[in-house]
Amino acid sequence: MTITLTNTVNALPNVEQNHVDRRRYPHGVAFMDGQYLPMSEAKVSVLDYGFLHSDATYDTAHVWDGRFFRLDLHLDRFWRGVERLRMTLPYGRREVEEILHNCVALSGHKSAYVEMICTRGSSPTFSRDPRQAENRFIAFAIPFGSVANKEQLERGLHVSISETVRIPPNSVDTTIKNYHWLDLVMGLFDAYDAGGETALILDTNGNIAEGPGFNVFIVKGGALRTPEFGVLPGITRRSVFDICAEIGLQVEAVDVSRAELRSADEVFITSTAGGIMPVTCVEKEPIGDGNVGPITRRLTKIYWQKHGDPAWSTPIAYE
Ligand code: PLP
Repeated sequence: MTITLTNTVNALPNVEQNHVDRRRYPHGVAFMDGQYLPMSEAKVSVLDYGFLHSDATYDTAHVWDGRFFRLDLHLDRFWRGVERLRMTLPYGRREVEEILHNCVALSGHKSAYVEMICTRGSSPTFSRDPRQAENRFIAFAIPFGSVANKEQLERGLHVSISETVRIPPNSVDTTIKNYHWLDLVMGLFDAYDAGGETALILDTNGNIAEGPGFNVFIVKGGALRTPEFGVLPGITRRSVFDICAEIGLQVEAVDVSRAELRSADEVFITSTAGGIMPVTCVEKEPIGDGNVGPITRRLTKIYWQKHGDPAWSTPIAYE
C-alpha cells in the first residue's frame, strides 16, 4: 500500500485547550482516498450513498493513554458489517490497522476516538445500482469524547425512556453498526423534553433496547442483565461480560422490561464513548438509593485498569 502524507498534516493548526480549531473541526487526522489529511480537509461528496442513503457501516474504537483498547474486536465487527452489506474494502485488515495507528500517531492524541467507515460510495456513471458503486474507506482520529460529562459520571446520569421504537432488526440489522440514527436522535429529543439528560428507546416488543450510542445494563440481587434483542452488541458490553466472567458475577443477555429497569438496584450504560457510565435516575425516580452502586463502581474500576493490560490493549508508536 502506498501512503501519501500530505504536507498539510505537518502544518496542523495550533489547537486550543478544547481541541477545536478556528473552523470548528476537532483537532485530528483523517485518512481518505489514499491520503492523510487534517480533519478540516476530510470531505466526502454529496453524491456518496453513505451521505444520501445512510448506506454505510462504521466502527469506533478508542485509544487511552497511548494504547488502542480491544482493537481486534472492533475490526472483527467492522469486517463482518462490510461483508454483510456486500461492500468491498480497498484495503486488507493489516492495512486498515496500520492506517488507524497512523491517524492516531499523526494526530498526537494520547486519548482518541478512532472511527473507520466504509460507505457505498458512488458510481462513476451515477447508476442507481448499488453493485456499480465504488465503495469508499475513511478513517479518522479525534480527541476522546464521552456520552456522560464529569459531573454525570460522578453522580450518575438522569435518563428518560422514550416511546420511540428502535428500528426492527429485520429491517436494518442492528448488529451491523450503522448510521440509521433517526430513532435514537428523536428518542433523545423526547428525553430532553421530559427533562432527561439522555434516552433509552424501546424494541419492537416494548422492552428496553438501547440509547443513542450505548447499551444498558441493570443489576438486581447482584446479577446483571442487558437487552439482547434489536441492539448493537457493543464492545464495551462485551467487556462487561468478560470482566464479569473473570470476577464471578452472573450476567445474561435477555429481554429487560421497563418495570425491571425502573426497579433495578443499579443501572449503567456502556459505550466506547465513555466506558461504563452510571445511571442513578430514570424518569425522575431514583434507581436504588439514588447513588452510584457498588457493582457499577467495581466494574468501572476494572474496565479502566484493563486499558493498560497488554491482553486488552496495544500501544501506539508515536513519532
Ligand atoms: N448501541 C449503539 C446504537 C451504538 O451506536 C453504540 C456505539 O456507538 C453502542 C451501542 C455501544 O457500542 P460500543 O460499546 O462498541 O461502543
